[in-house]
Amino acid sequence: MRGDLKVFYGPMFAGKTSRMIEEVKKYDSFSAVKPNLDDRYSEIDIVSHNGLKIPANSVPVDEVYDLVKGFDYDELSVVGFDEAQFFEEEVCDAVDYVLEKGVDVVVAGLDTDFRKEPFGSMPELKEMSDYFEKLYAECEVCGDDAGYTQRILDGEPAAYDDPVVVIGAEESYEPRCDDHHIIGKADEYDERVLERA
Ligand SMILES: [Zn+2]
Repeated sequence: MRGDLKVFYGPMFAGKTSRMIEEVKKYDSFSAVKPNLDDRYSEIDIVSHNGLKIPANSVPVDEVYDLVKGFDYDELSVVGFDEAQFFEEEVCDAVDYVLEKGVDVVVAGLDTDFRKEPFGSMPELKEMSDYFEKLYAECEVCGDDAGYTQRILDGEPAAYDDPVVVIGAEESYEPRCDDHHIIGKADEYDERVLERA
């Protein structure tokens, strides 16, 4: 029997990781996976903002399929994927492989990036799922339900085409509701860069 896929998605600080941890802990035996953006393989803990913790495999974003092929499925009831938005497309094949083994999967990930655009393979994973749930954070400005992640560079809303890494800039993220989610203008940002230079 094919396993079931549950997907929890939403902005940063919405409790996605803690929901995933709670779910996998209901099973007798689990494995967990998270992307390693540094291109290394290691064993680490996945830790949620509210302090829940499970051991996990941290794996380069393009090696997740190879990783799950090596799991011992006789000993496994569920696999949790954290920060799934960072994995390359093969994460869908990896999830499918696990489900075909009759093992359940729980995925946590950001559904949209700071531009409000679909993040990685989250839309496909949602499509594949038997159950999905959007989780909300609290808007940093008004306290309403926040469904989006605001990127802030040097205290200002990041612009649509600001680079992923801005050298020397102070970067942070906040949950925001639709009304308070702002995408800055690129020319304003250029002025800030000039000020800094
Ligand atoms: Zn708000």
